[in-house]
Amino acid sequence: MEIKGFIETSLVDWDGMVCCVLFLPGCNFRCPFCYNHALVSRPEKLETVPWERVEKYLSEKKDWIDGVAVTGGEPTIHQELKPLLVKVQCLKFKVKLDTNGYRPEVLDELFSQKLVDYVAMDVKAPLDGSYSRAAGVEVDTSLIERSIRAIIDSGLPHEFRTTVVPGYHTAESIAKIGRAIEGARKWALQQFVPAQADDPELRSLKPLLEPELLEMQRRGEGFADKCLVRGLRQVAEAPPE
Ligand code: SF4
Repeated sequence: MEIKGFIETSLVDWDGMVCCVLFLPGCNFRCPFCYNHALVSRPEKLETVPWERVEKYLSEKKDWIDGVAVTGGEPTIHQELKPLLVKVQCLKFKVKLDTNGYRPEVLDELFSQKLVDYVAMDVKAPLDGSYSRAAGVEVDTSLIERSIRAIIDSGLPHEFRTTVVPGYHTAESIAKIGRAIEGARKWALQQFVPAQADDPELRSLKPLLEPELLEMQRRGEGFADKCLVRGLRQVAEAPPE
């Protein structure tokens, strides 16, 4: 496994934390609204970041950086994820893991070995036939359900995330997702950014208006301790199509 992206300092990838972000290549999903498609489908075109560079940076900035967010792509598809997290923890940094939740057995192992301090999982659709459409591949939703339970039951700080895409999500489907994650600590509804979508047909979609998203947030508040909306300003600032 090669590291295919490195953000040295981020204030937005881990709420309340200053972190580095490591991007791992490849994914077991093909979400049409994915904004990381180069990392998913063409990682060989991206420059590899040597671990030594990351290690040197972390060693130099240990008083400034709180943790390391490991994202993708989908990090859990890699055998080398565990050794990477061990290396980060050996440097005395906390670890945030982003996942699509399709490998619950990997999450179980990482949680039991205390290699993760914070986990963020995408829940892309209600846990029914619509999940496969949102993920772009045939999905066994029992695996998604297992990951949701593993995360909630782990006691770890966590969040679930849903990118709200017109034509994919309605107030009703958001309520169904809410029921699937009931008991979660945090649920972030993320604004869809058309210009970055993998599927060219989605690039001409108009994202939901702010009041519509805020209404979904209001409904979502009943299912998680905290429900928030992310990315409203990001869309406002996106280049015109
Ligand atoms: S799970 Fe995430 S990285 Fe993978 S295709 Fe979907 S949006 Fe992209």
